[in-house]
Amino acid sequence: MPLTPDQQSQIDAERAAAASTRRPVSEGMEARLYTAHPVLDHGFVRVIDYMGGDAAIVQAARVSYGRGTRAVSDDAGLIRYLMRHWHSTPFEMCEAKFHVKLPIFVARQWIRHRTANVNEISARYSILDREFYIPAPEQLAAQARVNRQGRGDVLEGAEAQRVLDWLRDDATRAYDHYEAMLSQDGQQGLARELARMNLPANVYTQWYWKTDLHNLLGFLRLRADAHAQYEIRVYADVMAQITRDWVPAAWAAFEDYRMGGVQLSAKGVEVLKRRLRGEVVSQEDSGMSKGEWREFEGVWG
Ligand SMILES: Cc1cc2nc3c(=O)[nH]c(=O)nc-3n(C[C@H](O)[C@H](O)[C@H](O)COP(=O)(O)OP(=O)(O)OC[C@H]3O[C@@H](n4cnc5c(N)ncnc54)[C@H](O)[C@@H]3O)c2cc1C
Repeated sequence: MPLTPDQQSQIDAERAAAASTRRPVSEGMEARLYTAHPVLDHGFVRVIDYMGGDAAIVQAARVSYGRGTRAVSDDAGLIRYLMRHWHSTPFEMCEAKFHVKLPIFVARQWIRHRTANVNEISARYSILDREFYIPAPEQLAAQARVNRQGRGDVLEGAEAQRVLDWLRDDATRAYDHYEAMLSQDGQQGLARELARMNLPANVYTQWYWKTDLHNLLGFLRLRADAHAQYEIRVYADVMAQITRDWVPAAWAAFEDYRMGGVQLSAKGVEVLKRRLRGEVVSQEDSGMSKGEWREFEGVWG
């Protein structure tokens, strides 16, 4: 369980409180506020705050004096137009702030998304909890043979057990030594900022992560995608559901044009036109490399 009873009661108190506001709110996001959605074995994602919603996107696009919204279908049509034509700034008018608890090796991938504001728990000041990510057996996979960045078949039997034991034992031993180095029983005790270097990359950290909707969608396009590593994808999947509830019209347009859509090169367009004319086109006379052709055929073959 990622939350202590004290942490849960603080969240419950926040959820029980309500304030009146002149600002438009997103009912879907209001329902999500503060709740910790569990991810992996000890992690979670929760929304701390947000600004705007679908209405804020159309309001900004129309540079309105008032709320700027019209019929729901008009607003959804405008949002689809903006998404289709890669207009980004109206989507930047919405912001969301998340509290995320995640293993350090996932945080390393996540922090590459530079267009966010981040504040991480200080391991110079705090002692990190004895919580390590240990993959579920079905996630314990071998190196993929084709995709050099991916996973292949799931490990089985004695090998799977050996790997799990090593992961658990090594993390436990490293944490034991971390604690022992910090201890002031009969010794000076090493500074927290130094002792932490002994912690493994599967130990959990926490941060507040705030970004605008345009960049959040960019994050989700990359990390809620099948090519992203499972351990970051499961966080992105939860955030995708939250985003869908927050901005349903923007999410529908995003799913259609970005997640479900495909980008075509000029060569790809040409091959499709030739095929529609009845020509048989092969990789050799397509002008595409083998890799490009494989990806093209994956969609159109
Ligand atoms: C499947 C996958 C595999 C990956 N593999 C690797 C890898 O092997 N090695 C590796 O190093 N990384 C890897 N990455 C990370 C990847 O290259 C990006 O760094 C990461 O996804 C962040 O994306 P981003 O730059 O679009 O996001 P953000 O940093 O949020 O940037 C969003 C956009 O803002 C603009 N922007 C942000 N900062 C600047 C700036 N300083 N100057 C100009 N424009 C800026 C850019 O247009 C950028 O596209 C991988 C990512 C994925 C999803």
